Amino acid sequence: MKGHKKILYLTALCALLTGCSSASKDAEQAIIESGNKISMFVTTDIHYLAESLHDNGPAYQRYLATSDGRQLNYVTEIMDAFAEEVEAQKPDILIVSGDLTNNGEKESHLKLAEMFGEIEQAGGTRVYVIPGNHDIENPYARSIKGEDQYVTDYISSADFETIYGDYGYKEAVSRDKTTLSYLATPSKDVWLLMLDTNVYKTNIKYGAPASYGQIGQETYQWIRECAKLAKENNAQMIAVMHHNLLKHSPVLSYGFTLDNYEEALEVLEECDVKLALSGHIHIQDIKRSRNEEHPIYDVVTSSLCTYPQQYGVLEFDPEQGYDYHTTRVDVASWAKSKNLQNEYLLNFSTNSEKFFADRAYKRIYNQLTETGIYTEYEIELMSDTVSRLNVNYFAGTVPSVREEILESEGYKLWRKATEPERMVTYVNSLVFDYKIDNTKLHISN
Ligand code: FE
Ligand code: MN
Repeated sequence: MKGHKKILYLTALCALLTGCSSASKDAEQAIIESGNKISMFVTTDIHYLAESLHDNGPAYQRYLATSDGRQLNYVTEIMDAFAEEVEAQKPDILIVSGDLTNNGEKESHLKLAEMFGEIEQAGGTRVYVIPGNHDIENPYARSIKGEDQYVTDYISSADFETIYGDYGYKEAVSRDKTTLSYLATPSKDVWLLMLDTNVYKTNIKYGAPASYGQIGQETYQWIRECAKLAKENNAQMIAVMHHNLLKHSPVLSYGFTLDNYEEALEVLEECDVKLALSGHIHIQDIKRSRNEEHPIYDVVTSSLCTYPQQYGVLEFDPEQGYDYHTTRVDVASWAKSKNLQNEYLLNFSTNSEKFFADRAYKRIYNQLTETGIYTEYEIELMSDTVSRLNVNYFAGTVPSVREEILESEGYKLWRKATEPERMVTYVNSLVFDYKIDNTKLHISN
């Protein structure tokens, strides 16, 4: 799929561009020539935790028990299996849209960068990353050993740029002055507008990482300059960011969708962007902006370390446009190929689904119990229904279980229920608003 089409070199393309003096001399990566198909893998929210930062001891087990559904206890195996799939498939591009690490530990960043290095060395794939809200100046960075958690090194934004220099920053043809945003031109037809939407400058002062996201005025100005360059060079831009460009959840939007998303939409529309890729909410979801004349799709890929461990496969065809679909990391086959005897890994999909479903079940069970209005039997049925819906909501596959849910005894109880109000809204919204499969999309050129 590659080799022959990469005739131009980045420095050569750079010479065509104005204002790209910051392009690195050693970024002599071949550019995919115009007219070629481009294959991209899209992953996000890996939340990698280096093995050297924990010992599987009591404190770590307690930490895992508070997890939001992330399968942190197998993140190394998931990442290894994923890296093998990338190395075997050799997509032209691997995009990683933030929350690379658990809580921004330096060790986790270094280890992950090493894995990206192996992917690039396997040949044919170039990796582009941007940070997420967990990755930079995160005062929560910890190693977890024995009975305790210990403060460990976090990284600064300058460190991020150095650690991931080979995975975006050194190849950038343009850089935003105020953030870690950059413009990458891996092909002549499609450029990547990699946006750093995180707010980390006050993290240390406040002792906690901000999770909301925004784009500042200077960055908008820079985006417009990138769009102008793209237009002059007949390239289209895909926007990549950690925070969502559109609202994706009936209950979660503050802190997930960009604070100033209306302004961001306006600017990106003006810049002819049709496709944005994001993460952060850990839910597989695709939404389209309301502007009929210039719709923008925000494709959110679910978290790599959360069931069903899926990533996006994005193909660009100069004639057909974009095609996106998800595919699941086959952890069980990877474990088998390595002759591992771990039963959990050998049946990873089933076990991971149960891990995720159980967490939701317990949460809902407790909330329903607190209302004091349902019988134990009703609570079990209702929790079971929401847990099943929730698994499919996060995977983007609600339509595949809709019929089954509608007919379940649990859902019949939810239809009559009024409390807890937020949960009733959530359940009904999932059943009635999620009619499309969120694991695939086509955008015509
Ligand atoms: Fe995340
Ligand atoms: Mn995040």
